[in-house]
Amino acid sequence: MAKKLRVGILEGDDIGHEIVPVAVEVAKAAALLYGVEIEWVPLPIGRRALDTRGHTLPPETLESLHTLDGWILGPIGHRAYPKQPNAINPHPILRKQFNLFANVRPTRSYPDIGCIRDDIDLVIVRENNEGFQPDRNMLVGSGEFRPSDEITLSVRVITRTGSRRVAQAAFELARQRRNHLTYVHKDTVFKLGCGMFVEECKKLASEYPDVLVDDVIVDTFAMRLVRDPQNFDVVVTTNMFGDILSDEAAGLVGGLGMAPGLCIGDGDVVMAQATHGSAPDIAGKGIANPYSMIESTRMLFDWLGHSRKIPEAVAMAKAMSDATTLALLDPNARTGDINGRGNTASMTKAVLQALK
Ligand code: ATP
Repeated sequence: MAKKLRVGILEGDDIGHEIVPVAVEVAKAAALLYGVEIEWVPLPIGRRALDTRGHTLPPETLESLHTLDGWILGPIGHRAYPKQPNAINPHPILRKQFNLFANVRPTRSYPDIGCIRDDIDLVIVRENNEGFQPDRNMLVGSGEFRPSDEITLSVRVITRTGSRRVAQAAFELARQRRNHLTYVHKDTVFKLGCGMFVEECKKLASEYPDVLVDDVIVDTFAMRLVRDPQNFDVVVTTNMFGDILSDEAAGLVGGLGMAPGLCIGDGDVVMAQATHGSAPDIAGKGIANPYSMIESTRMLFDWLGHSRKIPEAVAMAKAMSDATTLALLDPNARTGDINGRGNTASMTKAVLQALK
């Protein structure tokens, strides 16, 4: 009998309380259809955890995560947390502790939802644990400091190991897709930092002779992403560039509600995490687009199905994708951000119906 998967549910903040339960409901329905056994483990995180357990990432949550195959993390609204030591942003800690060094962010066109083209199908693989992000590129202290009122220094960390492993994840993904990888950087200016990233990409390219490799400078890529996104398949880049470019890519296909993501690492665990934040402006209104979270969850089960060798989980993921694609065709079901007249509930209902 196939292994029972243990998957955590961490709702996060704001619209997380609306879209994470939807993603779980859809996954439960698909799992039932394909006989995938899942033990769901709800765990406190974020503002509610601060209020009830005294910490936005309670130690017991962190401990439980170590017993799971993976988890769904809702968006975190850390900017609204009170300024106190226990109110931390949990993402960087989770990504670091579980060595989730690659953030896989797909962008795909669907008909009639406001995409700029109908043939976009690319994936940006963003390095997750170093780069310019001051909350995760130091062991102790912050990667930003201010020697005087006039000067601020932000340190960008690029390592050979970090560059190599994210590039390897991207090459592997390229092999599963259209065998085309583009690495994006600015080694014309950051000769050492981006230079090292490029060196590692180039070294790996010789190990993947079946993958066509392109090398594009980040500013050119930002322009080409708008002009000819159909010419890209898998794109790998450093942390900050990937953060910005994946939001730009989402803008081409209907906005942040259409931006899913999966954090992967050395093979042990996986974290489904949509690209967008907690959208406090629309929280509680029942209008958030659940696509990003459903699709991130689908990616999680596809990944677990392959890594744990559970073909039923792969089939379940495919069914989730087919159902979402079908639901997106209905303007009465779709949410307002993607040319729809519906809301979170109508879209959920349409996906569940399409699953049957
Ligand atoms: P962060 O810095 O935490 O990533 P952000 O500043 O990028 O957050 P988001 O919360 O990601 O901001 O969202 C920006 C805006 O996009 C939101 O205010 C909301 O209007 C819209 N948005 C984001 N996610 C969704 C969604 N799932 N459905 C509909 N609209 C969304």
